[in-house]
Amino acid sequence: MPFMDAFNTQAYHPRLLVVDDDPRSRASLRELLKDSVMELATAQNGKDALAQLSTGRFDLVLLDLCLPDVGGHTIMDFISREAIDVDVVVISGRVEIDAAIGALKRGAFDYIRKPYGLEELTTTVRNALEQRRLRQANRHIALELEHSERMYRYLVDASPDIIYTLDREGRFTFINDRVSRLLGFQRDQLIGQHYGELVLEDDLELANHAFNERRSDGRASRNVELRLKRSADVRHPASRANDPMTISLNASGMYLQSGSSERPGFVGTYGVVRDITDKKRAESVISYQAYHDILTDLPNRSLFQDRLGMALIQAKRNKTELAVMFIDLDRFKLVNDTLGHHKGDALLQQVARRLKRCLRQGDTLARQGGDEFTVVLPDLHRHEDARVVAAKFIDSLEQPFDLDGHTAHISASIGIAVYPDHGETLDELLRNADTAMYQVKGEGKNGFAFFDQSSREMLDRRTVLGHGLRQALALNELEMYYQPQVDTSTNRLVGAEALIRWNHPTRGLILPGEFLPYAEENDLIPALSEWMIDALCRDMPRWSRVDDTLKLSLNLSPRYLDRGKIYDKLRSAMSDHDISPDRLEVEITENICISNPQHAIEQLERLGQLGVSVAIDDFGIGYSSLAYLHRFPVDTIKVDQSFIKAIEDEDTPYPVVLAIISIARGLGLHLIAEGVESEVQVRYLRAHGCTVMQGFLFHRPMPIDEFIATIDRKAQQHAEPVPGKPMMN
Ligand code: C2E
Ligand code: CA
Ligand code: CA
Repeated sequence: MPFMDAFNTQAYHPRLLVVDDDPRSRASLRELLKDSVMELATAQNGKDALAQLSTGRFDLVLLDLCLPDVGGHTIMDFISREAIDVDVVVISGRVEIDAAIGALKRGAFDYIRKPYGLEELTTTVRNALEQRRLRQANRHIALELEHSERMYRYLVDASPDIIYTLDREGRFTFINDRVSRLLGFQRDQLIGQHYGELVLEDDLELANHAFNERRSDGRASRNVELRLKRSADVRHPASRANDPMTISLNASGMYLQSGSSERPGFVGTYGVVRDITDKKRAESVISYQAYHDILTDLPNRSLFQDRLGMALIQAKRNKTELAVMFIDLDRFKLVNDTLGHHKGDALLQQVARRLKRCLRQGDTLARQGGDEFTVVLPDLHRHEDARVVAAKFIDSLEQPFDLDGHTAHISASIGIAVYPDHGETLDELLRNADTAMYQVKGEGKNGFAFFDQSSREMLDRRTVLGHGLRQALALNELEMYYQPQVDTSTNRLVGAEALIRWNHPTRGLILPGEFLPYAEENDLIPALSEWMIDALCRDMPRWSRVDDTLKLSLNLSPRYLDRGKIYDKLRSAMSDHDISPDRLEVEITENICISNPQHAIEQLERLGQLGVSVAIDDFGIGYSSLAYLHRFPVDTIKVDQSFIKAIEDEDTPYPVVLAIISIARGLGLHLIAEGVESEVQVRYLRAHGCTVMQGFLFHRPMPIDEFIATIDRKAQQHAEPVPGKPMMN
């Protein structure tokens, strides 16, 4: 039968309920539908029908309106009241139109009057079932659609990315919820807005290519990086409202087929925006770290080379000059060794900050490593400008540094090379700035110098010297010289300072100022110091035979004092040569006392235990040592030559000299003025109470034999009676 095919093919098994009190009617209906795959139930009265409808599930009820107990209309009312999902076809012998209308009003699918034809019945039943099937299928599709819509919506909103569509003019037509979390805008604030409102001005041009994407194939915009503005009320954990969001954008054109013949038309774009702010931030941290020094936050060597390279290209092109500086801190190692690396690091940070403040925008200050810094001043107008900056650098370091309560002083030596006069390439400029820096070091540090050819020669000499010095120790080319110290109130010698010399095989006599820095760099200080102590102890018995009252001062390198070996070395040397410790005085520079007072005190106390006395050398240039002085086990202070040199006139007060004299007196310390070269200086010093002096005016440093002869001569002088005065014994 045709209508059953439809049910079959759809695998659809409708259930029918035949409600009729007439057994014959029921039988004939059953007969009619018996071949179908339909399940068929029957009810012989209204109550039975209601009971079955309440419990069973039916697709179609063939309902006789005239039932003995509960009428057909009542059953239909029940169906609609209980919202039973079943279709009803009314079959009735009643002819009144009212009955039919009542049935149709109550939602009957159709009305068949008894007696009905076979064809009429089957057609009606088939139609009813077919329509029901379609309706159910539709409903199913609708449900599925609703479900999938919800699902897509969910997927879209739950996406970690912003997903949007734009119309052809670039206005948002859809945007998912993520936008409120990431950018702080509500989606309805954005719908209808142009995408340009969201993009950072600087990125607009790039955005116009990406957001306006019309291509939808492999050429569409992929991973375009842009920055978007955030709303002031963004609550994204890692971001502040002012931080833009860096995104990676994928966009493609959307096309819809409007008529079957036409090609699909462009309707807008669809895009996915991924927040890559954190990734970008991490990347930029990594690249920042690759090009910066972690300690000082300054550009590192690589970035410096880069900047200098760029600046050179510019200078060549514009025919301008540029300056490269090499800055090396003086005696930084001393601070580091005595105060510890922590304080050394802190000092480097503070130095970096001070130096940086001397620069203009566009200049680069970099840390090369250790205590070395480099600077490039691009676009230099005159050499003079570099000089001004270098002077500023030197000035900026003048004030003491506070390292966690410790006061430290540091100065710098600065070498300057100017393009194109002092070199045309990056390497040449750096090397020549470095050379100029070494020249400053050699000339007493704490200053700056431009490169010149003599710096180069000096450096070459240094290199040659360096190679020779180790050998000099082995070949015994070193020699101790002695410079007598005179008490001008008695005109007697009271002591002598031992000063080292190098008899170079080809260059002759070399002064310590030239080779000591090299010894320091090459870790030759301990060997040199030990050689010196041995030499002095060997010499001492020789001249002591002439005068055994003189005190001998020896210069100790801070580096050597620091190693703590000095104590053992001195003790054994003194006992080997039978030297009484009260004949020896050790000179140390003031700086070592300042940079780590506690350590210095301990070292000096140990020397004191040996019976050796201690002098502070170059006193007065170490800035703030006055505050510490009373804490040190010190016997003598030696006024630095620079203050003595300044004395040119007896009647002018020289406050530093006067202050030092009164400090020595106040603390009961011996005082020696060093570098005395003129009678004026002698008179001034004596007038203010400083009588012991050392300087070229009296004696130059001299070899041992000459020294012995000098003491001998002096002893003779005093042995002869002074005219007009009784001879003293
Ligand atoms: P310093 O300890 O300040 O030594 C005094 C320096 O001043 C000596 O230079 C001496 O020759 C010089 N001098 C003395 N009187 C006069 C004067 O009237 N006018 C001038 N212009 N200079 C005068 P020198 O011998 O060249 O030594 C330089 C520095 O080298 C010394 O300065 C000292 O710090 C260091 N030094 C010398 N010998 C030794 C040594 O055996 N061991 C160590 N560790 N350092 C030494
Ligand atoms: Ca000295
Ligand atoms: Ca000195």
